[in-house]
Amino acid sequence: MSGPKPLPIAVSESTDFSAGVAIGFSASRDASENTAGEDTTKKNEMNTNTMRDENKVIKNTTCYMCACRCGIRVTLRDGEIRYIEGNPNHPLNKGVICAKGASGIMKQYSPARLTKPLLRKSGSDRGDAQFEEISWNRALKLITDRLLHIRRTDPKKFALFTGRDQMQALTGLFARQFGTPNYAAHGGFCSVNMAAGMIYTIGGSFWEFGGPDLDRAKLFIMIGTAEDHHSNPLKIAISRFKRSGGKFISINPVRTGYSAIADEWVPIKPGTDGALMMALIHVLIRDGLFDRDFLVQYTNAAELVNQDQGTSREDEFGMFVREDIPVDEGCFDPPNKLWWDRTMNKPVSARMDGVDPRLQGDYKLPDGTLVKPAFQLLKERVAECTPKWASEITGIAPQTITRLAHEMGVTARDQKIEFPIAWTDIWGKEHETITGNPVAFHAMRGMAAHSNGFHAIRALTILMSILGTIDRPGGFRHKAPFPRPIPPCAKTPNGPEGIRPETPLGDMPLGWPEEPDDLFVDDEGEAIRIDKAFSWEYPLSVHGMMHNVITNATRGDPYHLDTLMIFMANMAWNSTMNTSEIREMLNEKHEHGDKQGEYKIPFLIVCDAFQSETVAFADLVLPDTTYLERHDVMSMLDRPISEFDGPVDSVRIPVVEPLGECRPFQEVLIELASRLELPKFVDKTGNRKFKDYPDFVVNYETEPGSGIGFLAGWRGKNGDQFMKGEPNPDQWKKYEENNCVFQYELPKSYAYMRNWNKGYLEWAQRHRLVRYAEPINIHIYSEVLQRFRLAAQGKTNGRQPPNHLRNRIETYFDPLPFYYQPLETRLTDRKKYPLNAVTQRPMAMYHSWDSQNAWLRQIHAHNYLYMSPLVGRDNGFEDGDWVWVESMWGRVRCMCRFSETVEPGTVWTWNAIGKASGAWNLAPNSNEARKGFLLNHLISEELPRQDDQSGRGYGDKAFSNSDPVTGQAAWYDVQVRVYKSESDEFDGSYPQFDSMPAVPGVGKPKTWLKYFAGGEK
Ligand code: SF4
Repeated sequence: MSGPKPLPIAVSESTDFSAGVAIGFSASRDASENTAGEDTTKKNEMNTNTMRDENKVIKNTTCYMCACRCGIRVTLRDGEIRYIEGNPNHPLNKGVICAKGASGIMKQYSPARLTKPLLRKSGSDRGDAQFEEISWNRALKLITDRLLHIRRTDPKKFALFTGRDQMQALTGLFARQFGTPNYAAHGGFCSVNMAAGMIYTIGGSFWEFGGPDLDRAKLFIMIGTAEDHHSNPLKIAISRFKRSGGKFISINPVRTGYSAIADEWVPIKPGTDGALMMALIHVLIRDGLFDRDFLVQYTNAAELVNQDQGTSREDEFGMFVREDIPVDEGCFDPPNKLWWDRTMNKPVSARMDGVDPRLQGDYKLPDGTLVKPAFQLLKERVAECTPKWASEITGIAPQTITRLAHEMGVTARDQKIEFPIAWTDIWGKEHETITGNPVAFHAMRGMAAHSNGFHAIRALTILMSILGTIDRPGGFRHKAPFPRPIPPCAKTPNGPEGIRPETPLGDMPLGWPEEPDDLFVDDEGEAIRIDKAFSWEYPLSVHGMMHNVITNATRGDPYHLDTLMIFMANMAWNSTMNTSEIREMLNEKHEHGDKQGEYKIPFLIVCDAFQSETVAFADLVLPDTTYLERHDVMSMLDRPISEFDGPVDSVRIPVVEPLGECRPFQEVLIELASRLELPKFVDKTGNRKFKDYPDFVVNYETEPGSGIGFLAGWRGKNGDQFMKGEPNPDQWKKYEENNCVFQYELPKSYAYMRNWNKGYLEWAQRHRLVRYAEPINIHIYSEVLQRFRLAAQGKTNGRQPPNHLRNRIETYFDPLPFYYQPLETRLTDRKKYPLNAVTQRPMAMYHSWDSQNAWLRQIHAHNYLYMSPLVGRDNGFEDGDWVWVESMWGRVRCMCRFSETVEPGTVWTWNAIGKASGAWNLAPNSNEARKGFLLNHLISEELPRQDDQSGRGYGDKAFSNSDPVTGQAAWYDVQVRVYKSESDEFDGSYPQFDSMPAVPGVGKPKTWLKYFAGGEK
């Protein structure tokens, strides 16, 4: 492959390039080539990573104060960080920095930093935080000896679960090479419903993998999104959008953050978004405001679905009828389905030239089979979902729902965008222009974190699709490596034989099931993973189910673990549901038998940079570095920072030396993989292949000679290739010289309609982003879900669910979206607990990371429970009073604040500001501990047990409090009541725990967190 052509970067919409642009190859340009007239001399100077001014040094790297990954410039004097600013040459944030990003200095010099490997003192209990310092050699030997034994005997007894890390390509590779399926990151308790609901429908999803094209949209609807998702880039985009006259509507129970600057706030009851989406679809179909051409050409809406009940073809009920024609091997969506032609009034091959298919009606095939177009089934599904019906569920007036649908439909229909960009579709048809319907949406955890979230998000994605907004200007646009086939190709092993001693897993630990035979279950249909992901209970749990690991491992259901390694996840506090009991479980010992007195989870390794609540429970603590002390990659193999117009990846390069004995977790994994002689990390003689993590990043290839590695930029021996090419020993240097980022701009003709864009799909196949250059048609109707339903109905020859789960699978694996009340809500006495309780993250803090940050805790040192004044009036308390918040699972005590910006049936708080006393090295009586509180104590990781066949539970087991399709943790389903705390009750928040002492290597807690540049820390 040749290097990229030196072309100008600033382009107009009408420019149609024949080749893309790799941005950052500045060395190959000169001023005469720069038709945009930029001062390249100055730009190249600014791109230089390091600028020296006597003892002042400026270094570029990538922020990690949240997961948005903005480019930053760190100014140091005498090796000490003085300030952090946004990098103006970075494509993501263009110089913008938020409060968190600028406060990274206080994370670096936080007094809560762990500095040494620690081993729990013999005789102490977990939770006591009694540790002795040990050397890294001893720590690594301890782990290696343990893992060697596990790998030789039963690899699944080792589990690796990680929090909001950005290195899943490496952690996943480590787990797969080790041979354990028990691996996942935090997606299962974050927003897997968003990922799965969208990817199983359009082959892409919000945030890293796609988003709203606000530069071109006219109407923007945001649903259930907190400020932390795509933070700076979204703020920049919304500001431009509003300045250019776009209308911004926020649908959210709470009006904070982005919603505060919306032109219209539509309050909605939590967990009812699906009903709203169904009603919006109802109105759009009823009033003819859908994009018929888009539906016909690019979705399965016109394809005929078998509706034959009670005949010989009933086993295919609900599946698309197919022609008996040869199909290419490996084709993931063979073109053998049928349309009903309106002119000839008969079935024809789908996508036949010149055919205008019916979207509505019911028909009979020549062999007598009854069929309907998928769109007809959707129309029937939403027939009863009127605005009035949805109003009673959502609390939104019917007139508002109708008006919202009309605004969406009319804007999409009447304000079309057209660019003179010629492109060719995958069926070979040439188009003169790219057109768009400028209605854009964005949604995140507020929609996702409910047990009905998968279907709500399917409904949202179908709404976006019938408006014709997928990968078109002004609508939703993909970001590389998406779109991918529906579902993506990666699969897990599908039986116990997939796990063998001293052998890597044959398939991925996480994958995308397409049918029951892809589930990871044994012959009895029982789960094989510790979290029960990919089992009949949660079949499409594509991000795993980290929220159930500790509970399941403690119970030995389905088995006991030996070693649990947790990285960057605060599982003894805010990263877990049912926090108090989970803390007890971590300390639980066998009471009988040959293991009497031993912990039920025998060995717990915690790797973190800070003294979190979870550190207190570790047997072994590994001190991680901060993001300013390590190499990192935001890789195309994982979660890159791609833009709509092309792939972008980026790196972190250390700006300071690690503190104390801190080591990057990546280095620890490379070291362990080498010591364990995991095949991809050693050569044939067992010698390590990679000196360290930077060496691994440069030289690792997915397969020998594949040319695909962790970084896409400056590949090939001379660094003149991109996406694919031999390892380049100077790759890190090139990133360092180019703002730590590699950006490739696709030809304009490849940048839209990527599900069906021949040029793009072939380009993506050549660069190994997708396996096939085939159309990725939108699944208005999901055959994947119908396959599971048919299995539950006993109509298939392959795997079928155990009897006690048939009803559950049949109910929730509906090929069309539907609204149902969240599972926990159904099991709650709503008269007693009438309020929904939700949390969200504040703009100034991310997860639990920032309560040790001297600057940021000045913004939030404790949290309140916010509610409508009506709640206080009805329950007899005043603004600022101490109140009890009680769910069916327990109660917490906190201070309340009245607010008009919350719908009256909801109470809410900031997540993770409340801390356990002494954790994060805060003074034991800090506001975070004494006034702050954690709502997680009120939320269960399991549903109440129901010993019946209703699908709620079975025997002595309970279902996870999760979406029954994806296993997404249903954080936001909890129902509560609120009442006044009497004045004679104790002062402060509840519950409180024994204070956590400072661990060795961490200084004594201070009342004031302070930092003087150049002074003593
Ligand atoms: S939005 Fe996130 S990544 Fe960007 S500067 Fe702020 S904290 Fe850093």
